[in-house]
Amino acid sequence: MPVYRAPLDDYRFVIHELLEVDKHRDLPGFEDLPPETIDDILTNAAKFCEEVLQPLNQSGDEEGCHFENGVVRTPKGFKEAFKAYAEQGWSGLGQPVEFGGSGLPNLITLTFGEMAQSANQAFTMYPGLSAAACGALIATGAAWMKEHIVPKLVSGEWTGTMCLTEPGCGTDLRLMKTRAVEQPDGTYRMSGTKIFISGGDHDMTDNIIHMVIAKIPDENGHIHDDLSTVNFFLVPKFIVKEDGAMGQRNGVSTGSIEKKMGIKGNATAVLNFDEAIAWRLGPKPAPYKPGEKRSASEGMKGMFGMMNAARLGVGVQGISVGEVAYQNGLNYALTRRVGRALTGPAEPDQPADLEIVHPDVRRMLLHAKSFVEGARAVAAWTTLNDSIAESNRPERETAAMLHDLMTPVIKAFFTDMGFEAANLGMQCYGGHGYIRDNGVEQFVRDARINQTYEGANGVQAMDLVGRKLGRKGGAAPMALFGLISGWIGENKDNEKLAPFTKPLQRGLDTLQQATLWLAQNGMANPNHAGAGAVDYLRMMGIVVTGWMWGRMAKVAQEKLAAGAANKAFYEAKLVSARYWMERLMPECPMLFERIQAGSDTIMAYAPEMI
Ligand SMILES: Cc1cc2nc3c(=O)[nH]c(=O)nc-3n(C[C@H](O)[C@H](O)[C@H](O)COP(=O)(O)OP(=O)(O)OC[C@H]3O[C@@H](n4cnc5c(N)ncnc54)[C@H](O)[C@@H]3O)c2cc1C
Repeated sequence: MPVYRAPLDDYRFVIHELLEVDKHRDLPGFEDLPPETIDDILTNAAKFCEEVLQPLNQSGDEEGCHFENGVVRTPKGFKEAFKAYAEQGWSGLGQPVEFGGSGLPNLITLTFGEMAQSANQAFTMYPGLSAAACGALIATGAAWMKEHIVPKLVSGEWTGTMCLTEPGCGTDLRLMKTRAVEQPDGTYRMSGTKIFISGGDHDMTDNIIHMVIAKIPDENGHIHDDLSTVNFFLVPKFIVKEDGAMGQRNGVSTGSIEKKMGIKGNATAVLNFDEAIAWRLGPKPAPYKPGEKRSASEGMKGMFGMMNAARLGVGVQGISVGEVAYQNGLNYALTRRVGRALTGPAEPDQPADLEIVHPDVRRMLLHAKSFVEGARAVAAWTTLNDSIAESNRPERETAAMLHDLMTPVIKAFFTDMGFEAANLGMQCYGGHGYIRDNGVEQFVRDARINQTYEGANGVQAMDLVGRKLGRKGGAAPMALFGLISGWIGENKDNEKLAPFTKPLQRGLDTLQQATLWLAQNGMANPNHAGAGAVDYLRMMGIVVTGWMWGRMAKVAQEKLAAGAANKAFYEAKLVSARYWMERLMPECPMLFERIQAGSDTIMAYAPEMI
């Protein structure tokens, strides 16, 4: 059976020693959050994740969800676990106090999310999507929705979903067919089919609040083939009246649930909307004229906010699965006897040495560990920027830009690396990893979807290169480069940090050159940008994570010099930091070479050749 222990020491290191969160008590949500309170919350969260969620991970995968007579049943134990999740207040952790939540900042909710997803990704997606739906409703909902629906999402009495994808479109939402027609009473009637809806139906709560995008027909009753008429709607499974009274079952039904590769405990539903009663979110748009082009509706801003929050959450899923796969790979390598150390037997009185003696096994483990801990630091720094962006500090605009820039990097780089880490953790088990009973092949299957949903990783890379780099004259990448360069400058005379500052400088130089190359060549030929985007995003991920490793190495050196008790912890930090600099950072010149190859060869591969 796989095991999971929440890495509480590492959370404390990142939150208290690296980010020194206690110095940020002026930020929203941090005012009443002394270090001891943070530690207490995380310790309780760890207990819940380890004792309630993790034991249901493998059984949930084996059993999966059931769809019988139009009803979806979650795996054994999920309903009770969800009740406990709600009763203990985990569903309202980050939601505003005025709606019954705990009002904790994203740094804490993301850390809790990491643990919960390591313990059980399929389960955690139910409350994860509810939290995103709840945030969108708070941002765009009418007063009665905030009074009667939001508190039920916060308390975990109900759950929420996010409904974008249709049979004909996932990435290209312009092609969506679902339509919503306004009624004299101001509500809409929605018709169409949404597919792949996570937590779209289940037996854990009495009601499900669907957050749906659909097109409003123009004055001639036609829907446009672009995003101009797309609006954002609330469609409850059971009607909620404006006075809070419960009504009948709405016209939304579950067509089926998918049989799929992983996250089998999460019901992925086909939802059919048949004249379902829908409430439009955000200000009412003026009637759409035939052929008219308009920018996205105001209500869509809520949807974009929800998608961005969900993207960060998915990026963290990459960390989660990397962590749990690493922990299990390490446990196995510390107990399995296989072969002899290359330099001579480590334990001559035993028939073989432990698997961990082999350099390649340590490489696999360090690859996962240095990713997980580096990525955790990047994610925590990014959520802190989110809080700074909401504050009155003068640097709030820069913080918002950095948060925006890092979102596709976290989503795509962390989920690619999370998949690599899951695969390496399984490799430590040899053939036994491939056998279902041992439970580690589940991590690989679960990790795979993270690279696709919430925007395929290649599309995230295009978002970074095509939109985020150039916004406001390149202000966001310039701010990021300035921060990294500033840190290197401050520490360049520190000889002990040279193994970190020097490779980081080389990585940063290459990243800046690649940014310039894309700015010059991507404009002239967009295919060059498209062909190099994935490599560029990976390079940015490597450099930003490398910067965090440099900062963490500095803290570790200071702690060791001060005679810290937990010596092995800080020494391990230095080893992981060096691994990143020696093994990941050298990818930068290779990635740059690939970017500079442009798109000619790739585009010469024409469909008619096949
Ligand atoms: C288990 C699961 C859960 C999901 N949960 C939800 C959910 O809760 N709500 C929801 O709305 N959706 C959900 N989805 C849908 C998911 O977000 C989409 O599958 C995803 O966005 C990709 O859309 P698509 O499948 O239509 O692929 P397509 O859009 O057809 O794309 C296919 C591939 O083409 C490539 N591609 C497409 N466009 C571009 C481009 N512009 N540039 C470069 N490459 C491109 C990408 O590699 C992509 O993987 C879920 C899917 C799964 C499998």
